[in-house]
This record gives sequence, C-alpha cells and structure tokens, in this order.
Amino acid sequence: MSSTRVLVLNSGSSSVKYQLIDMRDGSRLAAGLVERIGEQTSRLIHTHVADGDTREQNGPIADHEAALKAVAAELGRDGLGLDSPELAAIGHRVVHGGMFFTEPTLVDENVLTEIERLIPVAPLHNPANLTGIRTARALRPDLPQVAVFDTAFHTTMPESAARYAIDPKIADRYRVRRYGFHGTSHAYVSRETARLLGKDPSEVNVIVLHLGNGASASAVEGGRCVDTSMGLTPLEGLVMGTRSGDLDPAVIFHLERVGGMSTDEIDTFLNKRSGLFGLCGDNDMREIRRRVDEGDERARLAFDIYIHRLKKYIGAYYAVLGRVDAVAFTAGVGENSAPVREAAVAGLEGLGLAVDGELNAVRGDEARLISPADARVAVAVVPTDEEMEIATQTYALVNGSGNLT
Ligand code: ADP
Repeated sequence: MSSTRVLVLNSGSSSVKYQLIDMRDGSRLAAGLVERIGEQTSRLIHTHVADGDTREQNGPIADHEAALKAVAAELGRDGLGLDSPELAAIGHRVVHGGMFFTEPTLVDENVLTEIERLIPVAPLHNPANLTGIRTARALRPDLPQVAVFDTAFHTTMPESAARYAIDPKIADRYRVRRYGFHGTSHAYVSRETARLLGKDPSEVNVIVLHLGNGASASAVEGGRCVDTSMGLTPLEGLVMGTRSGDLDPAVIFHLERVGGMSTDEIDTFLNKRSGLFGLCGDNDMREIRRRVDEGDERARLAFDIYIHRLKKYIGAYYAVLGRVDAVAFTAGVGENSAPVREAAVAGLEGLGLAVDGELNAVRGDEARLISPADARVAVAVVPTDEEMEIATQTYALVNGSGNLT
C-alpha cells in the first residue's frame, strides 16, 4: 500500500489544529481542533469528513502530549490512526525559522536544537511548535516529521529589504532583521494567483495582501519574495486586528518616559490592544463595517486608517517590483470584505488597478478575478490554504520531489 496521507499539525501555546490530507487528490479526510489545553475546560472537536461526523470531547486535557494522544485516538476511531501504513509523514507548522531554515526541513535532533535556539526571537510560538513536534515524534518515532516555517518564503528577500538601518554588528549579535511571517500563505497564494492567470509563477509579479486578524503584505517577483511587511516580529507593517503595525519607534520611548508604562505593558498594548481594536473597540471587520454603515465616526476612522496603510504598502510594493501583474487579496478580511478590497484600490487607476463592482460583490470559495476585463493589473481574491501548503511541501520533501507547481 502506498503512503499518500499527510497529517498537518499546527501547535499553538494552548491549542492544536490538525488536518489529515490525502495527497493523491488533496482531499481532507479528517480535521479538528483541541483548545484550552492545560485548563479544566479543554475541548476537542473532530470531524471525519467521509461520513460528515463531528464529535466533541469536553474536559481537562493537561498538556500537548495528552492532546495529541486524544487526536490520535479520534483518528484511530475513524480507521485513520497514526499507525496507518498510508500515513507518509507529519508536517508541522513552525512560526520562526530565522535565517537558518530556508525550506521545509526533515526533523532530527539538530533541527530541534536550532528551533530551540530561535526561542528568544519567537518566545510565544516556537516553544509550542517544538512541543508538538517532540510529542508527535514520541508517538511515531519511525515516521518522517517535517517542519514547515512561516519565515522560510521570505528568506529570499535581498539584504536591502531584510536589514534595518542599524549597525550590522549589533543586528547580527542579537539576530535583529526583518524575517516576515505568514510565509506559507504568501507562497501558496502567489502560486495560485499565477495559476489563475494561466502563467508559471516564474513569469509573474504579485503583491499578496494577507488580511486576517494578523495581516501582512508581500512583494513576490517571479515566485520569490523580495519584500514583506512584517519584520523581526509580526508587529511591523499593516494595521491589524489588535496590532498597531508601523509606528515611529520613538513612540515606545515616549510611552515609557512620559506615559510611565513598562516594556511589558507597551508590548501588550501594541500587540493586543492596538490596531482596529485600539482605534474603535472592535477587531472584526464585519462589525466595523456595520458600524460604519450606521454612521459611527470611530469605526469610520479605524477603517480609513486601515485602508490608508494598505494603500501605502500597495504603492510601495509596486515601486519595489517595478512591474505588477496581479494584486491578490486573501485571509478572513481579504477573502470576505468587498468594501476593504474596493477601498484599497480606489484611486489607483493610474497604476492600472481597479475592481469591477459586480465581480467584487460575488462571494465564493474559489480563486477569482475581480478587476475589469481590460485592466492592466489583475486584482484577485485567492482563498489561502496554509494546511494544504504545509501538506504539499511535506509530501514533496518525503517523496524527494521539490516541484510544487
Ligand atoms: P487569523 O487566521 O489571523 O486569526 P482569519 O484569516 O481567520 O484570521 O481572519 C479573521 C478575520 O476575518 C476576522 O477578525 C474578521 O475581521 C474577518 N472576517 C471574517 N469573515 C468576514 C466577513 N464575512 N466580512 C468581513 N470580514 C470578515
């Protein structure tokens, strides 16, 4: 029996999301989520796709090991257990791969050590990702485990885009540089955009706008990332659900000296209580649009600041790329909010950018063009699929084929 299935694991600090995918046709066999790990109110929701059966378990799940064991048991009940010979590999999402990991990587002890060394630059994410990998390895020591890094797609950025304008000796000592995140999504969406245009990724330049609760833009030249808006951490760049994105770094000194806030307080303030939420008290674009339509001034200002920043990045990446074939909107806001898409390109006709009102209003799960037929630059909605990208990269690695297109 050939091994054609990949289990994708996304281990967060208190949750594990998973999907089991059959790589012959990309179909989902099972998917689920364990949340509130370590609390009394943990919950596992598991769906077996073939019979549409969704099962829920409530009650304490102490740690990631217990969570993965529970997931393995649920998969086993569907005849899809981790001991199945059809399972080819487990693909793990790892948030920070630094400069070291430029590609999906087969996990061994050295790889684990290196991911561990990156904890100071990714204190919230890498520890949970590591726990997930270690636990999965303990459950199936013989199975290939592949780490797929959020940062990897951005490692092709030239030094001129990746470095901050500070002394390189200090930067290198503390690993301070622009790494970028959401790379798995930017890779997938830029490739799918090329496919939508009927071109090879190497032929097209794409600006990808990943607008979820976290948000980032990237400039992709012939399939390679040449710039992205997130930096050392996911705080830089666009206005996000709860993150400020770009600001003058001196705001931090000011808040400390004049506002009397501690470093940790400012960290929390800028990451968790800023962005759309900080501006108007809501971080969900649906709610913000509803308030805008009712004439709410705070929501209007939040929306305008969000769009202004987005437009600046479109302009910046247009200049970075020189020639742009497509602008692709993705993730929760990008895929669903017609008003955001319309406002983001409004007034950019001079750059060849426009959306067709009717096409923009159409809802759907498929990649689609929303620009007028004669537009110089294609504007597209391209649903992202990070799990599929992780599975594809994992499967390509264990099968010895690097060809993803
Ligand atoms: P993340 O993975 O970063 O948590 P998602 O990509 O799932 O986020 O995006 C979540 C966000 O998408 C929500 O906070 C909300 O602002 C936005 N969103 C989801 N559905 C819609 C919709 N129908 N219209 C507008 N915005 C939406």
